[in-house]
Order: sequence, then C-alpha cells, then structure tokens
Amino acid sequence: MTYWVHIARSIDRVTLHKDRCSEVPSNVSHSDFWEGGWFDYPDKERALRAMEQAGTTFQRRCNLCKP
Ligand SMILES: [Zn+2]
Repeated sequence: MTYWVHIARSIDRVTLHKDRCSEVPSNVSHSDFWEGGWFDYPDKERALRAMEQAGTTFQRRCNLCKP
C-alpha cells in the first residue's frame, strides 16, 4: 500500500495519509522535500522515516484515513 506524507512548512506540520485518502490531491506535481508538498512512499516504514526527517514540530496522522 502507498502512504502519503504531506509536509506543510508554513504551519510546521507533517501529516501521514493512506493511499486513496480524499485529502490527497489527485494530481501531485513534483514537490521539493525542503519546501514541502506531497510525497508518496511504498510502505509505512519509509513514510514514517520521512516524517521524522521532515523535522517539523507537529506530526500527525490523518483523522480521515487513519493510517
Ligand atoms: Zn488521510
């Protein structure tokens, strides 16, 4: 299953989503990890690691898809 990591630098928060969550945009343009955006990972372990590497103050899991 694909996991999505949403890095929002402006609000210093990273959010984890599962594939097909309605919050995930259908067309994700290539994002810059240091500027923020949406990033997909083939497994949860890598997604969690990416969340940690994002270094934001807030880390959360989506309430909608509950990854
Ligand atoms: Zn979600």
